[in-house]
Amino acid sequence: MKKKSTEILVIGGGVTGCGVLFDAAQRGFKSLLIERGALSNGTSGRFHGLLHSGGRYAVKDADAARECIEENIILRKIMPEAIEDTGGLFVSTPFDPPEFADSFYTACQEIGIPVEEISPAEALRREPLLNPQLRRVFVVPDGSVETWEACQMLVDSAKEYGAEALLYRKVIDIFTNNGKVTGALIKNVITDEELTIEADMVVNAAGAWGGRIGHMAGCEITVNSGKGTMVAMNYRMVNTVVNRCGPPSDGDILVPVGSVAVIGTTSVGVPDPDDYPIEDWEVERMFNKGEEMIPSFKKFRALRAWAGVRPLYQEKEAGADLRKVTRKYALLDHLTRDGVDNFVTITGGKWTTYRMMAEHTLDMVCQKLGTERPCKTATTVLHSHGDKNHFTLGQRLEKLEKGELKGQLICECELVTRPQIEERLAQSDRNIINDLRRDLRVGMGPCQGGFCTYRVTGIMHENKGISAQEANKALVDFLQERWKGIQPILWGQHLRQMQLDEGIYLGLLGLDKLPIELSGADRGRIGEVETEGYFEIEAVPN
Ligand SMILES: Cc1cc2nc3c(=O)[nH]c(=O)nc-3n(C[C@H](O)[C@H](O)[C@H](O)COP(=O)(O)OP(=O)(O)OC[C@H]3O[C@@H](n4cnc5c(N)ncnc54)[C@H](O)[C@@H]3O)c2cc1C
Repeated sequence: MKKKSTEILVIGGGVTGCGVLFDAAQRGFKSLLIERGALSNGTSGRFHGLLHSGGRYAVKDADAARECIEENIILRKIMPEAIEDTGGLFVSTPFDPPEFADSFYTACQEIGIPVEEISPAEALRREPLLNPQLRRVFVVPDGSVETWEACQMLVDSAKEYGAEALLYRKVIDIFTNNGKVTGALIKNVITDEELTIEADMVVNAAGAWGGRIGHMAGCEITVNSGKGTMVAMNYRMVNTVVNRCGPPSDGDILVPVGSVAVIGTTSVGVPDPDDYPIEDWEVERMFNKGEEMIPSFKKFRALRAWAGVRPLYQEKEAGADLRKVTRKYALLDHLTRDGVDNFVTITGGKWTTYRMMAEHTLDMVCQKLGTERPCKTATTVLHSHGDKNHFTLGQRLEKLEKGELKGQLICECELVTRPQIEERLAQSDRNIINDLRRDLRVGMGPCQGGFCTYRVTGIMHENKGISAQEANKALVDFLQERWKGIQPILWGQHLRQMQLDEGIYLGLLGLDKLPIELSGADRGRIGEVETEGYFEIEAVPN
């Protein structure tokens, strides 16, 4: 079995783990990150996309709100390419308790969140689709975040300090010796190959899966999984983040992200962070709540629904209302807590507070390792290595029209060209179309991969020299993943689109009869596509 050694082993490639990796590497530690999927494979890639001003928590959770505004100010400076300064509105509609507005304004002022009241008329001038019956409106410094770009920037910057990140590798065991964690056993989820890593310190940044990692090291940690469902609408109907001015509840925030607007979320406890279906009532509630903010909301086309799981840490089991669990983060030293040395857990918190969480984690690590190394992440500006620079479709269209984006157009919705795809494929040793989606946005537009997926598969087949069966597998895996987010919103235009996609993939290409390369224990064998649940179109009444 192969072996590696490092000073700091970080488990989890969400924004927390990426932040910890960068901070550790910048402080001069030899650092290695292990992630079982792609970067942002967990909650960090399935969240709402809001750079919190802290306003959402101001009334009920002042500590969490304070952390958010402090980090909001820092992140705008250190990762401007991953943040869009949309600003935020807290709107009091006829459906919100009128007395909340004064408590909100006072709490924001006490915490230090810049807040300004504007007239409903001014709010409607800025956002004409808002409910014309608004009673009061407050402006706060919310923003919108590009998570894949942010995580990639953190890892790329960590690599400049010598760090390493191994993706599609899963931690399957933690080694302990005489009450000390000494490393971990890793499995490559694509090849099944195992690898032993020896480490001086292991940081558990596995989010909602943190309890499982703790258990491997003999430490029992209660991280509750709070599922939240969101719906992306195929239209950027607001340019400002819009929050309801009331106690946090379902579907009370609408975030403009790139070319779409995302409404969310629900909050439901789930026993398994890997298994959480999107329920019909959740989607329905998002639409009803959206309609309260924007009266024409239901008329817009929905693009996709998805859910993520909040890592909600509690020393004891949470009660039924997960919204009452603090959004403050928890940093656990397992020596003082469980008698297990060289092992710390960082969990909870928000995307917005990842940097602060990483800083405090590394402060603890330094103290445990008996070394003093100052944190510099609050003042180090990170740069994107890609072409995204806070992606908007307009930027790509402009480049296309000026002839700067050359080659065949492969994804018409997101304006992705063949040379872009070929360049990314050449940089990767994996054949995963989802990686291209995260990187280039292939397949993320209204047709959800209907027209581009078979083209991308063909390019992958040709450029990577893989077998037809492997290419088929990449195609099927991608379509099945897309299908999960389409299935809950099948009505109107999207239903028509999916019937067309079904015709292309099942009728024309015979997707369900394609021979594919099997994975897992059956690797190397050729089998048939597992189509159960796939393209089983059952329209949801609108
Ligand atoms: C619905 C929803 C909406 C949200 N909206 C916002 C928002 O708008 N703004 C905001 O600031 N915050 C928001 N949050 C909170 C925020 O998304 C999370 O706090 C944050 O993303 C957690 O990041 P993380 O890195 O700790 O966890 P994750 O991103 O989940 O990362 C943990 C990683 O560990 C990996 N992992 C697990 N087990 C193993 C293993 N055995 N081996 C290797 N890797 C492993 C997982 O694959 C995963 O990638 C939202 C959360 C939810 C659920």
